[in-house]
Amino acid sequence: SDEARIAFDNIADRAAGLIHPSIRFGVTGLSRAGKTVFITALVHNLLHGGRLPLFNAHHTGRIARTYLEPQPDDDVPRFQYEDHVRALIEDRLWPDSTRAISQLRLTVEYESASGWNRMLSAGKLSIDIVDYPGEWLLDLPLLAQDFREFSANAVELARSRARADLAEQWLARATAIDPKATADETSARELAQLFATYLKACKSDARALSTLPPGRFIMPGDLEGSPALTFSPLPDLPPTGSAPKGSVWAMMERRFESYKQVVVKPFFREHFARLDKQIVLVDALQAMNAGPDAVRDLERALGDILSCFRTGRNSLLTSLFTRRIGRVLIGATKADHLHHESHDRLEAIVRRLVDRAAERIHYSGAGIDVMALAAVRATREASIDEGGETLPVIVGTPIRGEKIAGQTFDGETKTAVFPGDLPEKPDSIFEALDQKPHGEPVTDINFVRFRPPQLERTAEGITLSLPHIRLDRALEFLFGDDLA
Ligand code: GDP
Repeated sequence: SDEARIAFDNIADRAAGLIHPSIRFGVTGLSRAGKTVFITALVHNLLHGGRLPLFNAHHTGRIARTYLEPQPDDDVPRFQYEDHVRALIEDRLWPDSTRAISQLRLTVEYESASGWNRMLSAGKLSIDIVDYPGEWLLDLPLLAQDFREFSANAVELARSRARADLAEQWLARATAIDPKATADETSARELAQLFATYLKACKSDARALSTLPPGRFIMPGDLEGSPALTFSPLPDLPPTGSAPKGSVWAMMERRFESYKQVVVKPFFREHFARLDKQIVLVDALQAMNAGPDAVRDLERALGDILSCFRTGRNSLLTSLFTRRIGRVLIGATKADHLHHESHDRLEAIVRRLVDRAAERIHYSGAGIDVMALAAVRATREASIDEGGETLPVIVGTPIRGEKIAGQTFDGETKTAVFPGDLPEKPDSIFEALDQKPHGEPVTDINFVRFRPPQLERTAEGITLSLPHIRLDRALEFLFGDDLA
């Protein structure tokens, strides 16, 4: 059974840990949230002695050595750290984003802060960083749904204001099909394709809608083109009764069930259930910039993601797996788009977003922490005088093709941008959701995409490591106890 296998894996992991202590650290978030950049910056700062004053073990000089080692799992692709660093630092281009699961082992040799711990522990800890698409996490709720429920949820969302126009083609075709009619492979595949196209369209920059399951329709990983991905929900299924043999309905239902068995369960068993720590990255700024529907949608997706971490009675997961994750950190990314006065405000807004999402799934939200951060700080702060008034600005190099006030940037020119402020009261964002028109930003933030920063050199010619915002706080939160 799944439970037995997970219990076995847990024991095997523990046993291995007696010889060589290691923890599994999951990094997730919906696509473009910043996972690749976060992992790259974290590793780079640790390997190259970054400025991390709030990361105690590092700041107090207790870390003797940090290095990469071969990962323990041979069947998982390695996180391509070196390629990503080269892109970020040498080319000053954002690296290729996460498309599937990958892993990297970082080993830290340290000295415990207390004499007692120094005697007990070997002072060596391996952190297995596991990068995986948040889209895959959104599949977990499917385990508790049958095909009828899955279809009803999908169709309801497809008919909502935010999505109706994108879903039109798929819905029209799906509605024209009689679920009880005889199935044929070609039309099944076409319908599945239309469904996948609709799900992908929701992710476009302008819409910035969060993903709907099945997650592999957006992030197929190694399943690209496989039959497990050729199904579609069906509208207007009869509320009771079962699918007639040989019907479209029966075919879609069977493939939906096998998706759960073949794709969803193994991922949770082999990867998710073995994590010890977790950060979920959230790009709330992009959602606020895209409009009220995107914010509501992010809230919905966050609820689905959080439900995977909920412990206790009635939780889907506790019934399926024994988990090891204690606390979950939600990282509100890309804070370098804001002036520092707004960093705490971003944190407060995302905290509200998390609380609202948690409330919807009847989850207290205990054990969930929120931090605003920028894994890579692409801007620096300055102020300019305008008509006798001093205005805070951020300075950076907009990426090539970025347009600001009619000017198109070439990717080489630095410019100052007035970033705007987030509201002091987080609730005003949520009040604005009902007042702002569809598709209009819900804040006054000027959202400009910048190139990664040029690294500074000291007078001695040493290149400093990647600048960040609050990455050290996140590290302390995540690993402070393990290195105490
Ligand atoms: P993933 O899909 O979660 O792996 O997302 P990435 O890590 O590839 O990030 C997606 C994009 O977000 C990047 O290409 C950058 O444009 C932007 N981004 C990510 N992290 C940061 C950050 O810390 N600061 C800034 N300014 N942009 C970021």
